[in-house]
Amino acid sequence: MTFRTTPRALAATTAALLALAGVTACSTDGGPAGADPDRVDVVAGFYPLQFLAERIGGDAVAVTNLARPGAEPHDLELNPRQVGQISEAKLVVFLHGFQPAVDEAVEQNAGDRAFDVATVQPLLDATAGGHDHDHDGEEEHADEPEHAEETSGDAKDPHVWLDPTRLATIGDQLAERLGGIDPDRAGEYTQRAAALRTELAQLDTEFTEGLKTCQRREIVVSHTAFGYLAQKYQLEQIGITGLSPENEPSPQRLAEVTEEAREHGATTIFFETLVSPKVAETIAREVGAQTAVLDPIEGLSAENGADYLSVMRTNLQTLRTALSCS
Ligand SMILES: [Zn+2]
Ligand SMILES: [Zn+2]
Repeated sequence: MTFRTTPRALAATTAALLALAGVTACSTDGGPAGADPDRVDVVAGFYPLQFLAERIGGDAVAVTNLARPGAEPHDLELNPRQVGQISEAKLVVFLHGFQPAVDEAVEQNAGDRAFDVATVQPLLDATAGGHDHDHDGEEEHADEPEHAEETSGDAKDPHVWLDPTRLATIGDQLAERLGGIDPDRAGEYTQRAAALRTELAQLDTEFTEGLKTCQRREIVVSHTAFGYLAQKYQLEQIGITGLSPENEPSPQRLAEVTEEAREHGATTIFFETLVSPKVAETIAREVGAQTAVLDPIEGLSAENGADYLSVMRTNLQTLRTALSCS
């Protein structure tokens, strides 16, 4: 490449091409074709933040997701083009502590144009929603700090979007922030955030009702992404690996989790769409359980029209089956 195409120029070219072809489709990268040239360029660190920005921004914003579809976003690395997008965006929506590369790029290039969703409400401790008890007087088994060495005393759990009520509150704040950047449309943003809040409240009610009466409440999951969900709906999370999915569990940890799964009569070991199911399958085989997908929605796994709300509802059905809820 001997020239550099700015994202804005690229979006304009794409829009022109789509207009020529008479296409009115949306793309996740450039927003609606032929959209308002005044629309606000927003960069989101990963899918749930993209979902939020698109729902609240509507056609007033063009949202770029830094994470590739189908790729696990924790360990995202940024290419120079993406760093450029961060530098040029009107607003960067990110979650400090979730994607170190994004944290760094924001700090260097977008300090005053960034919205850190981790600051909206205090984050839960890494051990929240965990599973910790004394099995009939035997010595307490430490399944709380999945990796004691990585989970220092003040470690926080970043997976905040899996509590729909928290996501709604983040949405309200995002609307306020967008309104500050684009005062003419502040009312629209507020309205859309309120509409999304209603949908998320409905989802919250479905979870509360759907998980009210279950035969089991322990969930064995591949990485500890479900602390917020567990805390909100009184489940107990037993994670095979820690807060980051790329850590390999130790043989000792595998043995502990297998023992836990047996002890609590788990019928299902959960795995994720964006990481390998191998370890979950091994434990499932060992204890005679099934495996099923419980999606932490760190990214969408398929381009099948699913969104945050529909994947959450699929998760609810999966949980109801696995935990024998009535
Ligand atoms: Zn995660
Ligand atoms: Zn236990």
